[in-house]
Amino acid sequence: MKEKIITKKVLKWYDLNKRSLPWRKKVSLKRKQYYTLVSEFMLQQTQVTTVIPFFNKFIKDLPSIDSLAKVNEKKLIKLWEGLGYYSRARNLKKTARAIIKNFNGKLPINSEDLLTLPGVGNYTANAILAIAFNKPYIPLDGNIERVLKRYLYLKKEKEIEKDNLIKKKIIFGTTLRSSDYAQALMELGALICRPSNPICGQCPIRKNCKSYRKKDFTLTKNTKKNREKYFVLKVYKKDQKYLLIKNTKFNFLKNLSIFPMEELSNPKNFNQNLNFKMSNMNMNIKIQYSKDNHKFPSSYWFDRKKLDSYMLPSFTKKVVQYLEKN
Ligand code: SF4
Repeated sequence: MKEKIITKKVLKWYDLNKRSLPWRKKVSLKRKQYYTLVSEFMLQQTQVTTVIPFFNKFIKDLPSIDSLAKVNEKKLIKLWEGLGYYSRARNLKKTARAIIKNFNGKLPINSEDLLTLPGVGNYTANAILAIAFNKPYIPLDGNIERVLKRYLYLKKEKEIEKDNLIKKKIIFGTTLRSSDYAQALMELGALICRPSNPICGQCPIRKNCKSYRKKDFTLTKNTKKNREKYFVLKVYKKDQKYLLIKNTKFNFLKNLSIFPMEELSNPKNFNQNLNFKMSNMNMNIKIQYSKDNHKFPSSYWFDRKKLDSYMLPSFTKKVVQYLEKN
């Protein structure tokens, strides 16, 4: 099925079947952005039906980014009580404060800036860009992942690796209604392409769904949840400064500032200095101090004394903190 046809069919289905959820209400753009931010944090580890009453109370008591940034810890935790994973609430408040301090009170409109916000990873950044800003992103949540795996019958371990799924989601195509489309695909996974007993009879894309044709809806579990990865991270130092580059090489932390790094496959006698967990990767990192004046495109000298005034991903901050202590 051509991408355009999938898009059209899914949107048509969504228009007729979408659930009425409080964060989908028609509100001003500013509110929409705030609603998306709060709902995406709440939905990170919790089901839609559980989130609804918490979201309503939260928005009633803290109706704006300003009020969220000023709320005291006791009230914040009280509002989150029952949702669990309280670090999400604390990160949400930190994010509100960072938005006011660094972005003039406005939710940033690009991944690079969104990823500097506490608690915002690739998935949440993509969801915000699509839902709040109508940008052509498809956030790969559990629901969309399931639709994708079943539609293309992706079963092998290599096929269901995150990097491959990110490539494959291109089959969903794009539309001018990016906000609705991201939500439509999530909704399709939640209501129709359910984890067990998918209701294929009501699915708008069943005609070309490979799992439907094969009548096999089982999903392979990703056993390589934490894949071991090995990197040599190069530290170039000049006076009080470190060399950072814009990452155009790795799929993680795309376009963000990192230290120059090389990935090694199955190294022998790898003595790591640092370990970092990122999505489904366990990153083993060996630090190598380098003296040569290697030229990197899009590099800059970062003043380590001004760590707090740079917007860096937490990975890079952790490396700097390690270097400062060792
Ligand atoms: S046809 Fe069935 S298995 Fe295929 S995407 Fe639709 S609900 Fe999922």
